[in-house]
Amino acid sequence: MPIRPEGSIFVGGQGLERKLLGSTGIEVSRMCLGTLTVGSLQMGLPPKQGADIFQAAYDAGVNFFDSAQIYGSYPHLGAFLRRVPREDVVIAAKSYDYTYEGMRKSVIQALNELGTDYIDIYLMHEQETRHTLKGHSEGFRFLLDAKEKGVIRAIGASTHACEVAEAVSEMDLIDVLHPMYNYRGLGLIDGTFDRMRAAVGRAHDTGKGIYAMKVLGGGLMIEEIAKALTWAIADPSLDSIALGIANARELEVDLKFFNGERPSEEELAASFKNKSIIVEQWCTGCGSCEAACRQGAIAVIGGKAKVDKSKCVLCGYCGRACPDWRSSPRSGSRSPTGSHSRPSSTAKASTGGVVSGSGSSAASAP
Ligand code: SF4
Ligand code: SF4
Repeated sequence: MPIRPEGSIFVGGQGLERKLLGSTGIEVSRMCLGTLTVGSLQMGLPPKQGADIFQAAYDAGVNFFDSAQIYGSYPHLGAFLRRVPREDVVIAAKSYDYTYEGMRKSVIQALNELGTDYIDIYLMHEQETRHTLKGHSEGFRFLLDAKEKGVIRAIGASTHACEVAEAVSEMDLIDVLHPMYNYRGLGLIDGTFDRMRAAVGRAHDTGKGIYAMKVLGGGLMIEEIAKALTWAIADPSLDSIALGIANARELEVDLKFFNGERPSEEELAASFKNKSIIVEQWCTGCGSCEAACRQGAIAVIGGKAKVDKSKCVLCGYCGRACPDWRSSPRSGSRSPTGSHSRPSSTAKASTGGVVSGSGSSAASAP
């Protein structure tokens, strides 16, 4: 018997169900494609290759794509948007900016790099507390102005915090919540799964559109993907679920769950092996990654960064903080699968090295 969550309103031409995103009037596929994976924080694919992955998802019925300023994936999404009718897809973008002017620049950057004149959902990225939300009031003011002008269709907040998910229910200006949400409560910075579930339920009841991130704990729950993903798909509070994919095999496996099928053990094993953050040998132990990690999952020990896989959610923020990551060439320094084969001349000049993925399969952050 196929799994069909309550509240599904539309079965797309390709068989992937869609729902209205809360009260926004925006219709989204139950699977949202997270673009962190293809951007410079993770695989660093050339834009065309990223666009090919998005195209495969689109052809399978996915119409919802989640991006952010720091993911480095706007060019990939932009390349994809040139191939499809703009109105056929829903784009979410995010920024950490909190000033009016800073947010204005961030939105303009997104518009320019995506090659579009509107963004469907623009979110305040990774809000930590109620105070953080208040501290972003000027940024929100710009988003409200942009919404009034039709440059943005909905305003959202992404968060790893129960407190923020609770606060969003009380904030009329926020239309969409994008919470860290998995049934083990992995990655939450201030509470338990039960607390987050209650907050998500309340937000749903107050008409917020909700699309979850990290339903597989950023990869930590990959061994129990069937249970974790089936649980998320059946949660009536969730309109959509963001999943990052690294290749067509992962897409195929994810889509089977959304279409009420079960992939075989062999398909699962082939699709989701070797996911982890790895530290390259030329790490200088500067500690920038340690300071950037909200999960306490990476620390400099004996002069080199070491990752505690039991805590790491594959968010890729350590890579962003690493001086080597910022200065090293993106394309040409790794294979399309993310195995990170660095030219030796670059390696000599390098000063650090957090990369995502290992072996033949790059890390995605579902
Ligand atoms: S080690 Fe890196 S990828 Fe893992 S949780 Fe920390 S910042 Fe994120
Ligand atoms: S991995 Fe990068 S940021 Fe972390 S200690 Fe090494 S050089 Fe510094």
